[in-house]
Amino acid sequence: MEQVMALVTNAPSGGVNSRKVNITGESGDLVLQPIYTGICGTDRGIIAGALPFAYNPQGYDFLVMGHESICRVVESDIPLFRTGDLVVPMVRRPGRCLNCSAGRQDNCSDGDKHEAGITGKHGFMREQFRESSRYVVRVDDSSMERTGVLTEPTKNVMKLFEVFNVVSGRSIYPTPEYSLQGKHAWIIGTGSEGFLFSFMAREQGFDTVMTNRHSVDEGRLKIMDQFGIDFVDYSKDFDITVKDIDLLIDTSGDPSTILRFAQKVRFNGIVFLFGTNGRAPDGALSGAFVDHLVEKNITIAGSVDGAKRHYEQAVSYISKWTHEHPDAMSSLITGEMPATSADPFKRGNSESIKTIISWK
Ligand code: NAP
Ligand code: ZN
Repeated sequence: MEQVMALVTNAPSGGVNSRKVNITGESGDLVLQPIYTGICGTDRGIIAGALPFAYNPQGYDFLVMGHESICRVVESDIPLFRTGDLVVPMVRRPGRCLNCSAGRQDNCSDGDKHEAGITGKHGFMREQFRESSRYVVRVDDSSMERTGVLTEPTKNVMKLFEVFNVVSGRSIYPTPEYSLQGKHAWIIGTGSEGFLFSFMAREQGFDTVMTNRHSVDEGRLKIMDQFGIDFVDYSKDFDITVKDIDLLIDTSGDPSTILRFAQKVRFNGIVFLFGTNGRAPDGALSGAFVDHLVEKNITIAGSVDGAKRHYEQAVSYISKWTHEHPDAMSSLITGEMPATSADPFKRGNSESIKTIISWK
């Protein structure tokens, strides 16, 4: 493949620039052209040099950024995909452990996998790249050309709810018809992942609350309203407003906040840890809290990434949500920058949820 324009960093030291790159060793039966790529905290962390686990692909002194994307097929060597098809490439590529060999690199057990735009594999922020059809999922709904960029962050949500279904199978929700009616999901954090978890909690039938330690802007409240989600600013009257949690999903990564909310989880509840913040201060675990977890059968689980089937489920749900709540879905994307912009990674204001880069 000839030289293409790309947004590159030097991992793990950081920095970012837009330049022509010549990447040779990549094989695959498809050539993809990104339409949009999404920016998340991981990208900003890599650029800031704050993520020591990021590294350049072998033989390169740079790393092409980007792991969230929606792309168009521009060349296909196989009948299964045709020029013009919309697809989303997967981020994780398998290492050699058993889980990776079984296509479950989301559950990689020795850390030997690679992640596009993060660890040892070039990402998607470039004019075009060669890709194996094994690592892409098809997007049949053409109205998802823009919202489809949310597929990658949404696949994390699908994986977490798969784990939820396994854990809740231990007779957690014994309503006569096995519905979740009257059960409460609380999502800590009001970023893009927080929204996507809340949408799925609503799909499951939970009364759903998003919460943060401050109030949120009108734009966020409007999206919540369209999906029937409540908001609680927990800095006010915590003990009165925060109660009866059956499912707690944390996207803050803040230990003391997690512990504070976990104390409000009811019998047989589940706490999911999703957010990560290595720089957050420690939280203190008390004996009374351990008693609470044990005596109430509370499960605490971590969840990372997702498998191909979770990408496929993410595509279905984004399609559904894009048709049911088009305004809310498009409002999640609060900024769009051209790939040629001086600094597309610059953090937006407090109202920004998801910024995307246009490659059109
Ligand atoms: P984000 O936009 O930065 O969202 C994080 C949210 O948490 C923000 O709304 C932030 O609020 C809020 N928050 C921070 N501290 C809080 C506290 N003490 N109490 C309540 N809310 C608090 O990030 P994102 O893209 O949605 O991702 C969420 C997290 O998931 C990140 O930590 C990310 O690294 C992690 N992640 C995990 C996986 C995985 O596979 N497990 C995958 C992708 C991302 P304000 O900023 O408004 O104050
Ligand atoms: Zn592995």
